Amino acid sequence: MPHEVRAVIAMKKDAPAEVQTILVPDPGPGEVLVSVQACGVCHTDLHYREGSAGGADGFPYLLGHEAAGIVESTGPGVTGIRPGDYVVLAWRAPCGACRACRRGRPWYCFDSRNATQPMTLLDSTPLTPALGIGAFAEKTLVAAGQAVKVDPAARPEAAGLIGCGVMAGYGAAVHTGGVANGDTVAVIGCGGVGNAAIAGASLAGARRVIAVDIDDAKLDTATQFGATHSVNSRGTDPVEAVRRLTDGHGADLVIEAVGRAETFLQGFAMRDLAGVLVQVGVPGPEARIELPLLEVFSRGGALKSSWYGDCLPSRDFPVLIDLYLSGKLDLGAFVTETISLDEVEIAFERMQRGKVLRSVVVL
Ligand SMILES: [Zn+2]
Ligand SMILES: [Zn+2]
Repeated sequence: MPHEVRAVIAMKKDAPAEVQTILVPDPGPGEVLVSVQACGVCHTDLHYREGSAGGADGFPYLLGHEAAGIVESTGPGVTGIRPGDYVVLAWRAPCGACRACRRGRPWYCFDSRNATQPMTLLDSTPLTPALGIGAFAEKTLVAAGQAVKVDPAARPEAAGLIGCGVMAGYGAAVHTGGVANGDTVAVIGCGGVGNAAIAGASLAGARRVIAVDIDDAKLDTATQFGATHSVNSRGTDPVEAVRRLTDGHGADLVIEAVGRAETFLQGFAMRDLAGVLVQVGVPGPEARIELPLLEVFSRGGALKSSWYGDCLPSRDFPVLIDLYLSGKLDLGAFVTETISLDEVEIAFERMQRGKVLRSVVVL
């Protein structure tokens, strides 16, 4: 019997998200039904509702993808996870068979697993779950590999955030950027992802972590996450400032967590020779860059993109939860406010005004 639950749906492009009753099937082979306890509001949810993620053909979308919950039931063939397990949901569940997985690089998996049965509106219209999760819902259906068991001592509103933004930022620094002990690191953009990159760089032993943003309040918060210096790029040239703060050399690693051409070019220029620029901010389709190719060559180093922090959820989520529980990673500080399912649209407005790190729906 399908479960009737309340959920946040984007019916059509640019229409406000609305709460509707949807049908969630019992889990089939390889699937698990999760009772959602908390789910963070991410920019990507807004991009789905605006039609810029997922495309116009995907409507209606079931939004929400930064979630923690309890496994309610499991389908045939599911091993390693049981009803009652406390899980964080991941939008990467390596398939084990694609060319990336077969070459031993499952963090790039090109064919990540999702539930195969659709969740639907009451009239049977299938829903497209945001990032293959869809967790602004009392219950959701995912592939077993998407449900990663973690220590139940972690508060769900904090734990769920590692499912997307925190993992993306932390991993951009630690995995993609490979922060080494003694590195100098600059992070451009101090929202949820940027602050997670700052925390990751700090935990990995960076000697200086320079936060760059245009908002003094965000720079103050960045200090709580481990930034040793801050630069307000509204009134200061951030490239010059980062150079000054790194003995005139530039940073060993720059994380671009905004997703704009202008900040990418700043990041390119504020590196030391052979430095690395990691782009984790997701750009819009219109963004373009122009660079002298000789500069790209002569500065050396690397320009890299970070998809989901190059994470392997089953390996990394339990680690981040343990860092949280031991007081080293303050996941609670990312939670600006807790809200109900009915308030997601209001949370989108606050997010667009740049006033929150994370609004988290608590069910
Ligand atoms: Zn794969
Ligand atoms: Zn997200």
